[in-house]
Amino acid sequence: MSPRPGVVYLVGAGPGDPGLMTARSLELIGSADAIFHDRLIPPGALNGARPDAELVYVGKRPGSPSPSQDEIGERLVEAALAGKSVVRLKGGDPFVFGRGGEEGEALRGAGVEFEVVPGVTAGVAAPAYAGIPVTHRDDASAVAFLTGHEDPSKAGTALDWQALAAFPGTLVFYMGVGRLQENARALIEAGRDPGEPAAAIERGTMAGQRTVAATLATIAATVEREGIGAPALIVVGLAVKRRAALAWLERRPLHGRRVLVTRARAQAAGLAGALRDLGAEVLELPAIRIEPRIEAEAVRSAVGSIREYSLICLTSPNAVRLLFQALDAAGLDARALAGATVAATGPATARALAEQGIAADVIPRRFVAESLVESLAAVELEGRRVLVARAAEARDVIPEALRERGAEVDVVALYETVQEDPSPELVEMAGAADYVTFTSSSTVGNLLAALGARFPAAARVVSIGPVTSEAARAAGLEVAVEAQRHDVDGLLAALLTDAGQNPKG
Ligand code: SAH
Repeated sequence: MSPRPGVVYLVGAGPGDPGLMTARSLELIGSADAIFHDRLIPPGALNGARPDAELVYVGKRPGSPSPSQDEIGERLVEAALAGKSVVRLKGGDPFVFGRGGEEGEALRGAGVEFEVVPGVTAGVAAPAYAGIPVTHRDDASAVAFLTGHEDPSKAGTALDWQALAAFPGTLVFYMGVGRLQENARALIEAGRDPGEPAAAIERGTMAGQRTVAATLATIAATVEREGIGAPALIVVGLAVKRRAALAWLERRPLHGRRVLVTRARAQAAGLAGALRDLGAEVLELPAIRIEPRIEAEAVRSAVGSIREYSLICLTSPNAVRLLFQALDAAGLDARALAGATVAATGPATARALAEQGIAADVIPRRFVAESLVESLAAVELEGRRVLVARAAEARDVIPEALRERGAEVDVVALYETVQEDPSPELVEMAGAADYVTFTSSSTVGNLLAALGARFPAAARVVSIGPVTSEAARAAGLEVAVEAQRHDVDGLLAALLTDAGQNPKG
């Protein structure tokens, strides 16, 4: 059901992992006229918003006053009365320490209709990701959600420490880091066992989630020592010790490792996704972007005479995709390649060809240009026309070798890879990466240019193959490990092995 004009939707965006957003929240975000959002919403939560939707940030901004609760209420009312469908997007659940109640009341007071879309609250999700069941048959038959923000020394605080000390179950403190020491002391003074297990979970469910465990008596000092910062939850209860068996996320082989992925956006997805599944915190630097050149005269003319080539070499999945776009624009399809021998430089390129209905005739065993040249040894080239379709800045190994064998070679650049600048936040985070991955020689120069002095000096460099490694060394970098198979799976395997041999200190 799409959002109705004049209605405000108080929507929970979940605790941070984009996968924990509800179907209803995504549906509403995708169709609302206006979205008012906080800071603590999952990365990419607004990616599905309509391009013409009004996106309004109403959270805290360092250095400038954040809009007051009254002001936010007024703006929601105003937008709804203007006939817009309005999503008010909040982290976690809107009614759990989210001030959704106040906003609902303001809307009701102004006669504006609203709907509440619950979200997965951090108090349940972060412990779950840390391997702490907030209830457990043996350890906790109740759970309490509390704000740790109240000053326990103040008269008339909202929390009844005697009652909480006697509470027969898990205590989950939101906003609990700032006053942790006072709160823990208040609980102990009111009679709670100082030896009871306690944990702090930082950035729960998000990339870089971190958990520290201690006891009620020592948790404040532990949090301080480990530098746990917001957003974090404090969990007190016997169930914390279940982490020993249940901490599933932190057991993933790349948990706690920050990995830079530097390749063109469309292709980064596979590598980044696989790294995330292994538990890594992945930073995708949009170091390069594909800029199609299929309108160029050279491309048109090659496509126009496509049937005259007896060999067509495709050097990347992008080259395949764009060649077929160019064929399509000329009213042609896969049948135009029927008479030619089709060579792919590697399995990913061959797969891209297969998607277009073409089984590559030649796929080299090793995925480097030299190897393709070897694999073509049996193909008759003397006096034949050959098309090499590739990126503008590719090396000339293939065309030169084919010309030496008497072929008439046309090289067409179907695309250029251009640099995109990363955001300052991304550059800052990249500075503390544990691994840098290079998937082609062009990513080396691009990444160094993008990060400059912020290049993570301590990071281990993982390269996809010898040519890329050489480019990295030429740029003054030390290559920690080189993939044995020169593709994404090979690179992943190399990184995993290295991480296993070099536990994070
Ligand atoms: N409405 C939200 C809570 C907002 S209050 C919800 O239902 O989750 C903000 C507090 O929530 C933070 O101070 C922190 O204690 C907690 N919090 C929110 N997201 C968190 C996360 N990903 N990991 C740990 N704590 C989180």
